[in-house]
Amino acid sequence: MTLATPSTTDLRINGDRLWGSLMTLARIGATPKGGVARLALTDLDRQGRDLVVQWARELGMSVTVDRIGNIFMRRAGRNPGLPPVMTGSHIDTQPTGGKFDGNYGVLAGLEVVRTLNDHGIETEVPIEVAVWTNEEGSRFVPVMMGSGVFAGAFTLEHAYAATDTQGRTVREELQAIGYLGDEEPGQHPIGSYFEAHIEQGPVLEDAQVTIGVVQGVLGQRWFDCVVHGMEAHAGPTPMGLRRDALQVATQIMQEVVAIAHRHAPHGRGTVGMVQVHPNSRNVIPGRVMFSIDFRNQTDATVEAMADEVRAFIRSVSQRSGLQVDLQQVVSFTAQQFHPSCVQAVRDAASHLGLSHMPVVSGAGHDAVYAAKLAPAAMIFIPCKDGISHNEIEDALPEHITAGCNVLLHAMLSRCGDVHALRA
Ligand SMILES: [Zn+2]
Repeated sequence: MTLATPSTTDLRINGDRLWGSLMTLARIGATPKGGVARLALTDLDRQGRDLVVQWARELGMSVTVDRIGNIFMRRAGRNPGLPPVMTGSHIDTQPTGGKFDGNYGVLAGLEVVRTLNDHGIETEVPIEVAVWTNEEGSRFVPVMMGSGVFAGAFTLEHAYAATDTQGRTVREELQAIGYLGDEEPGQHPIGSYFEAHIEQGPVLEDAQVTIGVVQGVLGQRWFDCVVHGMEAHAGPTPMGLRRDALQVATQIMQEVVAIAHRHAPHGRGTVGMVQVHPNSRNVIPGRVMFSIDFRNQTDATVEAMADEVRAFIRSVSQRSGLQVDLQQVVSFTAQQFHPSCVQAVRDAASHLGLSHMPVVSGAGHDAVYAAKLAPAAMIFIPCKDGISHNEIEDALPEHITAGCNVLLHAMLSRCGDVHALRA
């Protein structure tokens, strides 16, 4: 049989089928408010994994599982020696999670395979869909555990030892749900990696744009800041003789936000947690602890933001005479996605006639770790009101379809020669 090279230009995924599979998976762990609670390595996670794996097998895919429970579902290519074009995401959710975060990336990958199967299309390069273990980090810390172990960001032993609030370990729970595989994490080549995901923020919806061409993921630095003052009675202590820790703390908090504004458009500065001691209405606060979360597009700009807050703290401490301690507690380096993969996403969106714009991701994703091993990029679609990690998380079927079509064409662009077995 002679295989003609078909034009895949007109190839489109089946949006109704993709939507249907999202709704079917969302029944596992469904909450009364329309969300999903399917925490990592619970029996519900097992049911979700089993369903996805069953679908993959029905599509003729082979399935392997590694020692941290990452699942790799493979559609053969003509050249089995080539590293696959991979896509994927996660199917664990937050306790008040939605139907789309993570699940979309996995099921969009299966829909790409279904579409290729429907049209009898064979690719030179194999295609794989990954389900990464415990992306959310809700039940077990750290977040992005499966992809992190895979990329060597931390060890398997470190991940295995993580416990939930009941004292159960990751290793025990992987075994209990039947997903303690035997493949060594990371011993699994990736040619390139794409991940489709809801934006989880308001930018695309605000701009009324369908596709976010993700340039990279913001670097993060988290600090604990403690201001040491002196408790005293709110009545008898005149203003000039106070050592009010909260008054100094609020100046620093204002500066955190001002710094982020000075580092527009990608700078973010957040004080999300404040503890005031003794937290009594007629006592001058003697000690205030609060968190600082800085994010920006490059490690250098995050560092510049941290330098600015350090300088401000020195001067406010001098002026007030109060001691201020600043300690870094978490740091994630910024990740730029690979220009060739970013270009493939942009080209696919243009080819499909979809509105698109460059965006950055303020949240971490499995693609960040995949990007350390292979050229990678992400595709964002809008979500309603930018809301995620919430049971009301929602997305429009037309956006779900559009993002999956972009995924299909971006992946195909890196699959080498494409042939149709059927005309
Ligand atoms: Zn996610």
